[in-house]
Amino acid sequence: MRQYQAAKQQVPGALLLFRLGDFYELFYEDAVTAASVLEITLTARNKERGEPIPMCGVPYHAADGYITRLIQRGYRIAICEQMEEAGPGKKLVRREVTRVITPGTATDAGQLRSHENNYLAAVFSKNGRSGLAYADLSTGEFRTTELSAEDLASTLETLNIREVLHPEGYPVDSAGGAPCLETPLDAWIFGGDYAGRQILENFKLLSLDGCGLGDKPLAVAAAGAVLHYLRETQKTALNHLQRPAYYQRNDHMVLDAATVRNLELVDPLFAGERRDATLIHVLDKTCTGLGGRLLRRRLLNPSCNQAEIEARLDDVGELANKIIARTDLRKVLGGIQDLERLLAKITLGTATPRDVLALGRSLAQLPRVAVLLEQFEATGLRREIDPVTDVCDKILGAIAEEPPVNLADGGTIRDGFRADLDELRGLSRNSRQYIAAIETRERAQTGIQSLKVRFNNVFGFYIEISKANMQLAPASYERKQTLANAERFTTPELKELESKVLSAEDQILTLEREIFAEVRAFAAAEAARIQTAAAIVAELDVAATLAQVAVENRYRRPRFSDSGEMRIDAGRHPVIEKLTEKEAVRFIPNDVYLHSSNEYIGVITGPNMGGKSTYLRQAALILILAQLGSYVPAEAALLPVVDRVFTRIGAADNLARGRSTFMMEMTEAAAILNTATPRSFIVLDEIGRGTSTYDGLALAWAVIEYIHGVIHAKTLFATHYHELTELADQLSGVGNLHVAVKELNDQILFIRKVEPGSADRSYGIEVARLAGLPLQVIERARSVLLHHEVREHAVRQKLAPSGAGAPLQIRLFEPMNQALADRVRALNVDELRPIEALQILQELQQELLTR
Ligand code: ADP
Repeated sequence: MRQYQAAKQQVPGALLLFRLGDFYELFYEDAVTAASVLEITLTARNKERGEPIPMCGVPYHAADGYITRLIQRGYRIAICEQMEEAGPGKKLVRREVTRVITPGTATDAGQLRSHENNYLAAVFSKNGRSGLAYADLSTGEFRTTELSAEDLASTLETLNIREVLHPEGYPVDSAGGAPCLETPLDAWIFGGDYAGRQILENFKLLSLDGCGLGDKPLAVAAAGAVLHYLRETQKTALNHLQRPAYYQRNDHMVLDAATVRNLELVDPLFAGERRDATLIHVLDKTCTGLGGRLLRRRLLNPSCNQAEIEARLDDVGELANKIIARTDLRKVLGGIQDLERLLAKITLGTATPRDVLALGRSLAQLPRVAVLLEQFEATGLRREIDPVTDVCDKILGAIAEEPPVNLADGGTIRDGFRADLDELRGLSRNSRQYIAAIETRERAQTGIQSLKVRFNNVFGFYIEISKANMQLAPASYERKQTLANAERFTTPELKELESKVLSAEDQILTLEREIFAEVRAFAAAEAARIQTAAAIVAELDVAATLAQVAVENRYRRPRFSDSGEMRIDAGRHPVIEKLTEKEAVRFIPNDVYLHSSNEYIGVITGPNMGGKSTYLRQAALILILAQLGSYVPAEAALLPVVDRVFTRIGAADNLARGRSTFMMEMTEAAAILNTATPRSFIVLDEIGRGTSTYDGLALAWAVIEYIHGVIHAKTLFATHYHELTELADQLSGVGNLHVAVKELNDQILFIRKVEPGSADRSYGIEVARLAGLPLQVIERARSVLLHHEVREHAVRQKLAPSGAGAPLQIRLFEPMNQALADRVRALNVDELRPIEALQILQELQQELLTR
């Protein structure tokens, strides 16, 4: 227990799995936690001596599954191994903590999703700015940046970080973002000198300028902490980890967390909803985990660089046209396993013989890829691939066709690879025949048919005779062990065989281990070349997938406008069109046209369920698809290259995040109005719904005016406030659209067509009727509505006797009387006498009262 306590102290905050023979045991609190999470029995040790110690254990050969479950529940695990074989004596076996596994440092296939990255992040903030670094230990990716506190929360959420490191006492302000494991580290680890040194030493660099970090102290602090933590937990070299690449957030189209969520790019809006309701589900037909992860990264960071986008579209176009070549390429790519993750396991020393073989077999596909690429013209496809033949040959030459899962089970190395190994194997194999021969001979000589010659780890070779036959045992047999109903013996002949065979088997395993380690090291040394090949495979996979998706779904290549004009002909919602297809409903395509200087804000009215949200999202998704380098669901699309897509959609309650719907809505709106630029695209759905009608209308009105007057961003704005359609008359940048419906005796029919102009009324009662409200309620609602409409008409007449039918609400938002404002502005208050001031005040009041 002293040894246990010492190990436990090295890894505070982790559940310690302490190896005892064939089990990993947990004690004290750890045992209580693990027993309840894993649903295994909690026992106690030391009961007889008072103070029982709670304990539980899992068999070592099945430990992976249990560890995975603990990691997935957000626990850190430390593995304490036996560092030497247990000898015959009572000597304490040496034990060491060999590895710490945490949610952010998982590398085992069972703990990961193949098409998603598993990121560990570190955050270091100072004076309102933050350094962020994140790495995926299972692939070697390592990036860092510096950003504002606001952007940080959003970035952490979109990246789907599994674990975040921060200085002790300075928790990360994730603004209520997705919960992930937070790991505090001593503050000195983030110190400039220490953190910088970590980077220099690990990547053997002379200066931080080499990776663009020379003048980025916050990024250095964060990246250094990531490295420190990886070294501490892995206790091994990190050869596959790439240099921390510095990136600037505005190199890409920025999609904040709310937008990623609202547009259902990777996750459905409501947990538990169908996964096929996401854009990634429609797009991700990749053949490899490498491609799957790259596609996801591109989807969350579409490009803003038109040349880059066009080049990607060229690749997709050529692959879309060359059907046979595309099919062949995808077939070969399908034979390539996860090069990055296999390589990571190899450099971390956790690769099994099967992992190494999988790497070799995957590399063996690369020459075939290279041949296929010769038939293409696009620059992104005419790639030179280094097939890393030396590593491939080495692996396939050494590792057996069907190696065992565990190296210790023997049989990892091919027959014929090494003469000395073959020789030892011959000995061991023959000895088995030899034992069989001894058994047959002894049975004949003693006349005991049930006599057995066997082997076990503790007693070696023995002859076993049941108690019933004991009287037949020859005197020359030497007694070795007594069981309940049998006796075990040995003979000089058996002893000699034993020592020969045991030493041969030992030698075989030692030799296999040696060769395996050598092969692994050989592959690890070429990590950079393998990663380069993996990156090309990922890019090809993504291009071929986007081509496949484009052909299957009849997408078209988008074009880009320099003027900022946006024109989509017969556009479709890429996800809903698939869902409606399944239900045999036709998706109705719609056009989008936003000029660059006038009518660049579209206000869309129409009944609920008319298709407004769908139309809005469809426009945003088409922009994102185009900029990630995909064809788009439309007959034709002329698009601006936008810097950001913002959305504020629906009344998604987020009580789980501790914010009321209305507060949420306003926070998102604030973020948009404070950051959007003329090059942004904004989608606003039902702003102001969460408060009283007039508040809501007032806010919505003011928001549109602000976008029009200050931001000039292209905007689609869906609303049920009819009054907003009047903005189109006042502001040149605003145009009206509506979703059309057909009326058939009291019934409405949604035709999902978006047309210019405003809707004539809101059809709320008709929709309620479709939803199945009792007829009595519908009838009553109709009569209440009628009553109110008559009253409102009367009020209107009274307020505006001259302007026949001038709408009521517009008066609320009319710009302040210009003449009045001018008068107040012109006043020189310093020189005004009190009596004059009162006089002016009275005049102003008079004027207002008579308006
Ligand atoms: P709104 O925002 O006006 O309430 P939605 O956009 O939520 O309406 O659409 C309501 C329903 O109509 C959704 O179930 C959607 O699947 C379907 N829908 C929307 N647009 C179309 C379309 N163009 N073609 C076919 N079905 C559509």
